[in-house]
Amino acid sequence: MGVEAVLLGVAQDGGVPQAGCDCPRCRRAWAEPAHRQLVTCLGLADHATRQSWLIDATPDFREQLQALHTLAPGCALAGILLTHAHVGHYTGLVHLGREVMGARGVPVYATSQVADFLRGNAPWSQLVALGNVVLRSLTPGHEVQLSPSLHVTPVAVPHRDEFGDTVAFVVRGPARRLFYCPDIDAWERWTHDLRGFVEGMNVALLDGTFFSADELLNRDMSQVPHPPVTDTVERLAGVDCDVRLVHLNHTNPLLVPGTERDWLAKQGMRVGTFGERWTLG
Ligand SMILES: [Zn+2]
Ligand SMILES: [Zn+2]
Ligand SMILES: [Zn+2]
Repeated sequence: MGVEAVLLGVAQDGGVPQAGCDCPRCRRAWAEPAHRQLVTCLGLADHATRQSWLIDATPDFREQLQALHTLAPGCALAGILLTHAHVGHYTGLVHLGREVMGARGVPVYATSQVADFLRGNAPWSQLVALGNVVLRSLTPGHEVQLSPSLHVTPVAVPHRDEFGDTVAFVVRGPARRLFYCPDIDAWERWTHDLRGFVEGMNVALLDGTFFSADELLNRDMSQVPHPPVTDTVERLAGVDCDVRLVHLNHTNPLLVPGTERDWLAKQGMRVGTFGERWTLG
């Protein structure tokens, strides 16, 4: 089985349903648990070394760690990689502390800005002080070896950096490459060309937060910028790569079957699904 990646959630930071929300999609998800979506997260496993990793520690960390244990039995958690310090991507670290797991020395990989934020602010600083986690610094563009067959490269992406910068990850197994990019403000503000970059990958899990630019009726979308799915899909028409949209906001019509999903399928792309897995070699 070698090395594999498994998708452990596809929702934006707030999950589906979202706290306090009574919109039609959340109402349905409150009533029918099958329509709930965990926050976007990727699990990695190397079955040869019997190790596993999580990319992002989400508010659904509890369920996702358990799902990883079930999907990759015998592969112990060997580290957590963080894309950035927004609520949906790091707050699950609380479970490693003395009130819950009392973990010992779990490697947490983060950029130096995000590591400084964790080191300098409670309650995260306590995880470091008590040795629940050991911070390992990521430098964008520099590959890190997780195991003999598994390598990850953080890639800087433009995104609201209130508490630190943001990276996406290229995950490289012996035979295939996967790109994980849950949050980016705009493709045109990136230093890479999206299409060219994705053509170099076998799988791409991309920011699909909002379907269109007019989706947030009561909030100014310029405050929470993301490329609309319509823009992303247009840039990637016909690309030779398994593209999956992740990080869907609770307002996104792609969460349920309908005309938007049919349109996406016609473009050869899909919404990610919990438990979907890819062998990387
Ligand atoms: Zn996010
Ligand atoms: Zn809602
Ligand atoms: Zn974010």
